[in-house]
Amino acid sequence: KVLVGNLIGEDHANYVLMYNMLTGIRIGVSRCQAKSKRALTDADYAAKHKFTFDIIGNELTPSAKYDFKFKDYAPWVFRELREYFHLDPADYLLSLTSKYILSELGSPGKSGSFFYFSRDYRFIIKTISHGEHKFLRRILRDYHEHIKANPHTLLSRFYGLHRVKLPHGRKIHFVIMNNLFPPHRDIHETYDLKGSSIGRDYPEEKVATKKGAVMKDLNWLRRNREIQLGPEKRALFEAQLKSDVALLQRLRIMDYSLLIGLHDMRRGNKENIRQDALRVFQPETKELRRQPTQVKRGPGGGEKDALALREAVRRSDPKALGAQQVTKLPDRDSSERRYFVFYQDEGGLRATDQDNNPTDMIYYLGVIDLFTPYTTFKRGEHFWKGLSQNKHMISAVPPKEYGQRFIDFLCSVITGGDKSRRPKMYGYTD
Ligand code: ATP
Ligand code: CA
Ligand code: CA
Repeated sequence: KVLVGNLIGEDHANYVLMYNMLTGIRIGVSRCQAKSKRALTDADYAAKHKFTFDIIGNELTPSAKYDFKFKDYAPWVFRELREYFHLDPADYLLSLTSKYILSELGSPGKSGSFFYFSRDYRFIIKTISHGEHKFLRRILRDYHEHIKANPHTLLSRFYGLHRVKLPHGRKIHFVIMNNLFPPHRDIHETYDLKGSSIGRDYPEEKVATKKGAVMKDLNWLRRNREIQLGPEKRALFEAQLKSDVALLQRLRIMDYSLLIGLHDMRRGNKENIRQDALRVFQPETKELRRQPTQVKRGPGGGEKDALALREAVRRSDPKALGAQQVTKLPDRDSSERRYFVFYQDEGGLRATDQDNNPTDMIYYLGVIDLFTPYTTFKRGEHFWKGLSQNKHMISAVPPKEYGQRFIDFLCSVITGGDKSRRPKMYGYTD
């Protein structure tokens, strides 16, 4: 199953990694969250908190099933980001770490990154390279400022940046981000759009057989797809897109895309693409000995928050779980998405007609894959590919041009959009 991934059981090759990631998150996040809120300082952006886990445990870290080291990067910055994104701290921990269930999507892109879904399908853990990790830390302050100024951003929401180091020295960096796709709606078609055409075609003959196939720009055009938005939503969408892309251009980022999932309300959820994939999974918890986590309540921390958090930490302890419960996915969206313009209709953006009345389509969309700066390597790729192919149609163009082309393409595929602004798409004619 492409879209949903495989549940990671104890016999899975990445079970230990998953266990370590979730244990680190559980302890790291609750530690930071338990302190009372304070203003960010310069040092917070560069901060890294180190935890050493072993099977015995100490007063700082409870015992774990395996020996490993964990680093929590810029925990205070991400804490504040989660607040801007309206995540409830207790909820966040519960979603990710109660039951220790993740499902692995494997490595869908060319980059070799692995993707994991939280058991309720709300969060994605993406493993990233050391270079991407360093890049995110470098742009974190700008990203944070942008989010603060743009609460309705279309950019990926980053909730945490961490590293697990295994005893033999292997280091795995990962981010936690929002899953654009909701647990309660079938996605009938998925596209990854960049506004370029070379290499941007998914084999049409494979689409029917591969559920959850991610199609690309040329498929979108060939199938005459449009983002149907009336004047009101369209103005909001275009304005936000421009503001987000301006940041990416300034940070010299490229290679990002608009991921868009289409839910056709007339087709509904008959296909049950996701529900059947999350089977019962019983984590093995016997040998996990753990001291109760101390959640200290600072002077500023609300009593209610502290209680909720303590409860979350307690319930997210696998030992305290009955572990019998079937993972039940919700049938409606009641998450933080309701606070955001582009995610407020059933977790997504409902299509509207020219009179701004809703129609039968919901879009689940956002700008993803934000860690590729226009480096020397990309400059080389641009140069070499540009010798043999039109240098404006390949993906690797300089950031200013990349962003403008991205905007022009997307604005041209909104209903009634200006088709004359559409970048020339090699291999496709209107
Ligand atoms: P590459 O660099 O080769 O494009 P990558 O490993 O960096 O690949 P992404 O482009 O970030 O991967 O994502 C690959 C796929 O994973 C997307 O096409 C999409 O199907 C899925 N995906 C990524 N981010 C999200 C998200 N936030 N919500 C839902 N699905 C996502
Ligand atoms: Ca990508
Ligand atoms: Ca990438």
